[in-house]
Amino acid sequence: MIEEQKKLNLIDFDRNALESYFVDAGEKSFRAHQVLKWIYHRGVIDVELMTNLSNDLRSFLKDKTSIKLPQIISEKRSEDGTKKWLIGIDDENSIETVFIPENDRGTLCISTQVGCALDCKFCSTAKQGFNRNLTTSEIIGQVWLANEVLGYFKNEKRIITNIVFMGMGEPLLNYDNVIKTINLLTDDYGFGLSKRRVTVSTSGIVPGIDRLKEDNKVSLAISLHASNDELRDSIVPINRSYPINELLASCKRYTESKEDEPITIEYVMLKDINDSLKDAHNLVKCLHGIPSKVNLIPFNKFPGTYFSSSEIDTINAFRNVLIKSGIFTITRKTRGDDIDAACGQLVGNFVAKSTRHQKNSVGLN
Ligand code: SAH
Repeated sequence: MIEEQKKLNLIDFDRNALESYFVDAGEKSFRAHQVLKWIYHRGVIDVELMTNLSNDLRSFLKDKTSIKLPQIISEKRSEDGTKKWLIGIDDENSIETVFIPENDRGTLCISTQVGCALDCKFCSTAKQGFNRNLTTSEIIGQVWLANEVLGYFKNEKRIITNIVFMGMGEPLLNYDNVIKTINLLTDDYGFGLSKRRVTVSTSGIVPGIDRLKEDNKVSLAISLHASNDELRDSIVPINRSYPINELLASCKRYTESKEDEPITIEYVMLKDINDSLKDAHNLVKCLHGIPSKVNLIPFNKFPGTYFSSSEIDTINAFRNVLIKSGIFTITRKTRGDDIDAACGQLVGNFVAKSTRHQKNSVGLN
């Protein structure tokens, strides 16, 4: 068992890393492509079944590596077709992953951390505290498992067409594992999704946004939720490290070329907190010069919260201000709230180790 745990998990490698591993082991780099295709195109995770690899290579891989995925513990189904899986990642912890089917696409919402350290006041995950980062295999594993359950490997028909990093955790505070996952999602030897169909949502980790721009520029969503620093400091505390003007400047850098996709600005509608017409006009000013579209998100309730959602008339009036100023704006439809699968309702099952800010790979203290 201990030996088994020491083995390298092939699901923790993106293409570059796997190529280097094979070359270091004296193999040709195209062997890495064959292995990736077995895992991500055909859903084969038993090395013995990878029949185009030589016997020697298969023995080597069995000896030195493993292919280890997380496990689905349970599935909940919403009236609206949304599915939520509780996924066990080790003996103590589980996280949640949500599949949202729509007419023309299927979106999988994946988690990147066990809990979250950022303490956004309106988010249920934040209330749980933070335990640890997920590994690459635990993040891409959510996508693999959902594809398997939805029959993709058997039918080769894409059911998951879009991936959003909007589950538990702050993706850019687990940068190294998130970027490897993004590479596997967008690689033709991996899941082969276009960059447009992969969206990283962040509460505003500026150094992470700049790294993502260089490393693999997928679609970006920003959890803005307020148009002035005083309010944002209080509801999204990471704003004290990266205030609105710095955050929006990084958004501008992210979209400097004409071909870049606009940034999605997420704005949760909190009754009497951030939903006035003055807030709407302020938001218009903030977004001036930044290629963006706005998603207004009705607040989803969870036990113990003192917030409530803005009324529909207030949301519409807010939206009209943005639209009149030429900003493409939609109100996000709430999906899966009957099974607590909507934005900000994911909690998993774990014991928090800390509720303090996490040290991280992009230099935040
Ligand atoms: N940590 C990342 C991704 C997770 S949350 C981020 O902050 O972007 C995905 C979106 O849901 C974010 O915009 C988040 O602010 C929003 N959200 C969190 N709690 C919510 C709630 N109770 N109701 C509606 N949206 C919520």
